[in-house]
Amino acid sequence: MTIKKGDTIIVRIGKNRGKKGTVARMLPSRGLILVSGVNLYKKHVRPKKQGEKGQLVELMRPLQLSNVALFCSNCGRASRVGYRVDGAKKVRFCRRCSVAL
Ligand SMILES: [Zn+2]
Repeated sequence: MTIKKGDTIIVRIGKNRGKKGTVARMLPSRGLILVSGVNLYKKHVRPKKQGEKGQLVELMRPLQLSNVALFCSNCGRASRVGYRVDGAKKVRFCRRCSVAL
């Protein structure tokens, strides 16, 4: 798994292509990812109690993990990710500009 919660990703494929967002949640068992600000839909919430108002809330729909890529802020585009060993640590890096991500 090369993408983690809190990462900035860019959508490669589909109607949200080119959109960027921060990973809000990973659903690896289903191969899905929730990205804040991407693939939103509006849901009408009915009033649950009397006197309460119905609301329009925006919720995220999960994206296919295979349709997103890590965004490299150094090259300003989608990054192919590699790992290298830096001393005792494994460092994730961009294969295009070799900057650590
Ligand atoms: Zn890069």
